[in-house]
Order: sequence, then structure tokens, then C-alpha cells
Amino acid sequence: MTSSRPVIDLHTHSTSSDGTQSPSELVETAAAAGLDVLAITDHDTVGGWEEATAAALRTGMTLVRGIEISCRQDGRSVHLLGYLTDPVASGLMAELARARKSRVTRLRLMVGKLAAAGIPLTYAEVQAQVAPGATPGRPHIADALVANGTVAHRDEAFATWLHDRSEFYVDHYAPHPAHAVRLVREAGGVAVIAHPFTRSQGRAVPDRLVEELAEVGLAGVEVDHPDHGDEERRRGEQLARSLGLLVTGSSDYHGSGKGNRLGQHTTHPEVLREIEDRSSGRTEVVRP
Ligand code: AMP
Ligand code: FE
Ligand code: FE
Ligand code: ZN
Repeated sequence: MTSSRPVIDLHTHSTSSDGTQSPSELVETAAAAGLDVLAITDHDTVGGWEEATAAALRTGMTLVRGIEISCRQDGRSVHLLGYLTDPVASGLMAELARARKSRVTRLRLMVGKLAAAGIPLTYAEVQAQVAPGATPGRPHIADALVANGTVAHRDEAFATWLHDRSEFYVDHYAPHPAHAVRLVREAGGVAVIAHPFTRSQGRAVPDRLVEELAEVGLAGVEVDHPDHGDEERRRGEQLARSLGLLVTGSSDYHGSGKGNRLGQHTTHPEVLREIEDRSSGRTEVVRP
């Protein structure tokens, strides 16, 4: 008999941001897919935590509550995962609220530019794609364009109009990643830089930024990720080793919004234990 290693996926999205499944559906899908541990990490919000927690208790799923903070450094988009942060930590929560507010303004501006260029789209159509209280983003513009028949799927909308270098792209407020790492630490959580070598979202993160983040308390690097090829994974492992950082793996599942499959990449149980040990304990891993 071989005892198989638990399947741990530490980065997924629900309708609280740009995933297509509600937090309950996400947890239920993960349970049906045979995952042992799931992290919910919506963009800039803890809004899905409560529903996901109830679903985890119901389905017997171990749940790590987290967030994915949209940051910006030198004009580059950097995503930071924060695990087990205190949801009432005021510094972090204020920053996330500021980002979400700015995202609304930004979405309106992007819709205005698209409509002005003759692309059939209204802000109401976009709003209809955002679940109540969810973090709005470009994927919701894409969903509106799918719903009104302008494009066939999210990818097409991104490739044509919504990518970072598009003339229709508008920035939203996003903290510097070093500031976000400090806020996650202050909130008792554990910070892991998400998919640092993603190219589909602009320029990859330079090593010196990861070094700078390590100095202010970054705990790990998401190395095994659908956006990383063999080369990026080797580079990430090397970088993590040289800085003494943890290595995580995850799917970045977005439901039907992306091709990523739950459990596509996974994290070693020892790494999860470290993440848990390094958190303050103010937010615990949910174990049914
Ligand atoms: P935003 O945070 O509003 O700037 O939107 C960025 C989000 O768009 C990312 O978190 C991705 O989940 C999503 N995204 C980026 N590129 C694509 C793509 N080609 N297809 C589907 N979703 C994408
Ligand atoms: Fe996303
Ligand atoms: Fe991301
Ligand atoms: Zn993500």
C-alpha cells in the first residue's frame, strides 16, 4: 500500500472576484475533484470566505482562506497571495477597499473607451456580470462581451481589447508589492508572490524585486503554475532556494473563465504546514 500525498491547491477564484463559480460551488467542485486542501484567493477581497467556510464544513474540505492582492511596481502588474490574514486587520482591509473602489472607476472608463470605439457595450451589461459585492475586473467586461455575442469567450476579448497594452486599458489603484507584503504580515498572514514569471499579464517580475520583497517578509514563491513553463519553474525554484523562500504550486482556477483545472499544480504538505506555522493564528485553516 502506498499512502498518497494529499492534493493541495493554494490559489483559486470564485464569483467574489473573477471566477465563474460561487464560493460554495468552488468548494463542492474541489471536493468532487478529489482535492484534500483548497485555498480560496479572490482578487482584493475576503468576500467569499464566509460562504466558502460553510461549504468546507459541509463537504469535509480543508480550506485555507486567502486573497490575491493586485499590486503594481514600475508599471508592472504583480500579484501577491496573502494566506490566513486577519479579515478585520484595518491596514490591509483599507487598502483592499481602496483598490476595489478604484476598480469601479476604472471599469467605467474602460467601458466608455470601448463604447466610444463602436464596440457594443454598456456599463450596465458589465455590472450584470459582477456578483453583488464582488471585486470587478476586466474579466467581467469580457463576460459582458460574451453575453451580448460580440466575442466567443474571455480569451478572445483579452486578446483583442482587454490586454495590458491595449489602447482601452486603464489602470486602477494598486499598492506597491512591498507595501502589500508588510500589510499581509501586519494582518498576521503569510505572503507568497503569485506566478512571478507570467508573461500574459505584462512583463515578468525581476529577481531583484523578489529579493526586495523577501527582505520585508515575503514567505514564498508560487513556482508551479499554469503560466509557468519548465524554464520558469526552474528559475523560480532556483530563486526561492537562493532566498530561502517556500515553493508553492496551484491551479489559479477560475471556473470556466480559464482553462486551468483544479489541482493542476499542487503544494507539498510540508509547505502548507510552514504557511500555517508562520501565520499568527488569528485566521485558522478550516478543518471539518
Ligand atoms: P484585472 O485585475 O481587472 O486587471 O484583470 C486581470 C484578470 O484577468 C486576471 O486576474 C486574470 O484572471 C484575467 N485574465 C487575464 N488574461 C486573461 C485571458 N487571456 N483570459 C481570461 N482571463 C484573463
Ligand atoms: Fe483572475
Ligand atoms: Fe494572478
Ligand atoms: Zn489568481
